[in-house]
Amino acid sequence: MKRLFSCAVVLLSIAVLAIGCGGDDTSGEPSAVTLSATPSSLEFTAESYSQSIDVSSNAAKWIVTVADAWCQTNITTGSGDRSITVTVSANPGDTTRSTTLTLRAAGAADVTVTVSQSAETADGIEVEPDAWDGVKRADITYQLLIYSFADSDGDGIGDFRGIISKLDYLDELGVSAIWLSPAHPAASYHGYDVKDYDALDPRYGTEQDFKALIDAAHEHGIKIYMDYVINHTSKEHPWFLEALADETSPYREYFVLSHDPKADIAAGRIPMIATEGAAGYDAGQWFSAVTQPSTEPQKLKFTLEWSSSPKLTVEQVDNVENSGTAGSGKYLYYGDDDACVEFYTQQDNIYTLSLEMYSSWGCLIRTSKTSWSAGTKYGAKSGANTMEWGVPLTLISNSGSEPADILLPGMESIMYHSHFWTDWFVDLDYGAAADCENSPAFKAICRSAEKWIDMGIDGLRLDAAKHVYHNASSDENPIFWNKFYTALNDYFHRTRTEDIYMVGEVYSDYNEVAPYYYGLPSLFEFSYWYRLEWALNNSTGCYLAQDLLSYRELYASVRPDFIEATKLTNHDENRAMSLLGNSVNKAKLAGAVLLTSCGSPYIYYGEELGYVGRKDNGDEYLRSPMKWGDASTTTYMDKIYTGMNNVKDVPAQSDDESSMLNVYRSFSQLRNTYPALAVGEMKLHAFYNADNTQYKQIAAWYREQDDQRMLVIHNFSSTATTVSVDDEIDRAVAVLNSVSANYGSTTTVRLGGYSSVVFLLK
Ligand code: CA
Ligand code: CA
Repeated sequence: MKRLFSCAVVLLSIAVLAIGCGGDDTSGEPSAVTLSATPSSLEFTAESYSQSIDVSSNAAKWIVTVADAWCQTNITTGSGDRSITVTVSANPGDTTRSTTLTLRAAGAADVTVTVSQSAETADGIEVEPDAWDGVKRADITYQLLIYSFADSDGDGIGDFRGIISKLDYLDELGVSAIWLSPAHPAASYHGYDVKDYDALDPRYGTEQDFKALIDAAHEHGIKIYMDYVINHTSKEHPWFLEALADETSPYREYFVLSHDPKADIAAGRIPMIATEGAAGYDAGQWFSAVTQPSTEPQKLKFTLEWSSSPKLTVEQVDNVENSGTAGSGKYLYYGDDDACVEFYTQQDNIYTLSLEMYSSWGCLIRTSKTSWSAGTKYGAKSGANTMEWGVPLTLISNSGSEPADILLPGMESIMYHSHFWTDWFVDLDYGAAADCENSPAFKAICRSAEKWIDMGIDGLRLDAAKHVYHNASSDENPIFWNKFYTALNDYFHRTRTEDIYMVGEVYSDYNEVAPYYYGLPSLFEFSYWYRLEWALNNSTGCYLAQDLLSYRELYASVRPDFIEATKLTNHDENRAMSLLGNSVNKAKLAGAVLLTSCGSPYIYYGEELGYVGRKDNGDEYLRSPMKWGDASTTTYMDKIYTGMNNVKDVPAQSDDESSMLNVYRSFSQLRNTYPALAVGEMKLHAFYNADNTQYKQIAAWYREQDDQRMLVIHNFSSTATTVSVDDEIDRAVAVLNSVSANYGSTTTVRLGGYSSVVFLLK
């Protein structure tokens, strides 16, 4: 297919002709007035130029008018058949312009001719990509959030069947894999606190629906990667609930639990935290849980012996009866609902209180119902805070150190670890990294993964990969992931010949990512976006290729067959378009760079539509519903970034040749067409890039695979620039925005602002 790209927009100057207004009534006239023009549209390049139109008419007089002064005709009236010369002045602007030439004759319908002119000052460039053979070789993965993507059943929440209905869309976008957000039942809407690794969130569908998605995706040549969150579970996971409920539960081994974390870490009793990353840091990420045999209220009698060292005794009673004098000024505080009940005074500094009560955490004694000031709160000594029936427990006040909560008989206090400063996540305990594969949690997590492998998934995205073990400078995490990958890859090979795919989230710069290639075949390249964003916002492309290649060199030293998962932004980061100042030009260029450079690119859903969002008021603002323009659009999310109103939906962008969506579609098709662009080696251009600051806005590189060689040039500035290349160019196969070229032994290429060109070399 041959297309003329003289500008950003491929003009479809389709007949707007001959159906004009103003035709007189000709009924009863034997010979109607005729008027027509050929061609019905004229296209001009940017310089001043003339073309002609042939008018055919039997009218005694016709007139010609043009709406805009930059377009002139050599005559304004004529008769019969005649040619008109149409001349346009040079287009000084940056965008294509168009106008209408109108022919009018009494008794005939008006005839219009569309005139359009591109914005380039030189000839446009012929863009002639090879036809795509349909093989998906570009390894493009699409990240989607199940709940926001597509709804199939009208409940407003995205689901598996909804994704199935959009596989054609993803196919057209050229993707060969989907990373699904966590699909397991979870406590949070986003799913990153799993309650059952063996089940699916019923909001998303059944296992049959999930299986149908996997099968339908495979029919489209699209793999399915599950998000597997195994640093921690939800606090509501039955494993954790059972571990809390029973001191002898096998699930006690699944979590990082301790009665005294600081002492246990120091004594080496927690292999999962063999060393602390920073002094005191990990010991601070502990939360206490209290377990007890029953949640039924009990009838209890408390006796308080008041002295400089008060003592509290508790007994079980059959009847709740109180006697003595009210107004003691001593209170039992046990409140889930701020319950604070006053004791009755007996004699000799004895106070008693009978009541039916339940507390999830125990109790305290207070001497003020309203104040917590020093000396008003009494609890137990830490480590000696559990009561026994009928045995006095010595209390201490908050005048010095902080007293511990008083636990009723049968209650146990235990600390659990959460790496993320939230008591909703509970870290799993895989034991010492060198021996992690023998830990019960490791085995359980693998067994669950095997279920989904059996169902047909192709890979896993691994959340929080750098947080499993806690000392970032140790090699524990890479060792853990190596064992995890090996275990599941072995299982995968029972039924599949290829390796299982796994990509890890190490949310760090490239140098911290590199060691993880020991454990995993693929890792997200956060540095890719950091450098690209900087380059775009500083009009400086010259360092980009060199930076990207330096990362690859480092990765290759750890794992020669590393898979660099390049990306713009994801569900945790402000949207790329917002970080680029809402510049459509920059965002299109970002997409073109992503799809022409090294690595295996990820597209975060909505990026291809120019989604905006910042997470200042919550991560939800990065996770807006996909705009399908129909009933499959989800309505679950009500926190939507205001700028999303301006983002056009899929049908509108499909119809617009110059839309963000069509930039992504055309460049992904290009990447799928050419092995060099998909998997070829990336090499620096010898002249442009880092050591040529005369052209600092230019990034240029080669992609090479076998005999196929391509030259990629991007302009990171808003101003046009002209570069000379000595390479033997076969032809251009892609253009973004506005590019022209004069071919020769040295080819001069003019790149308009934020423009790109991809040449196939001889
Ligand atoms: Ca639904
Ligand atoms: Ca952890």
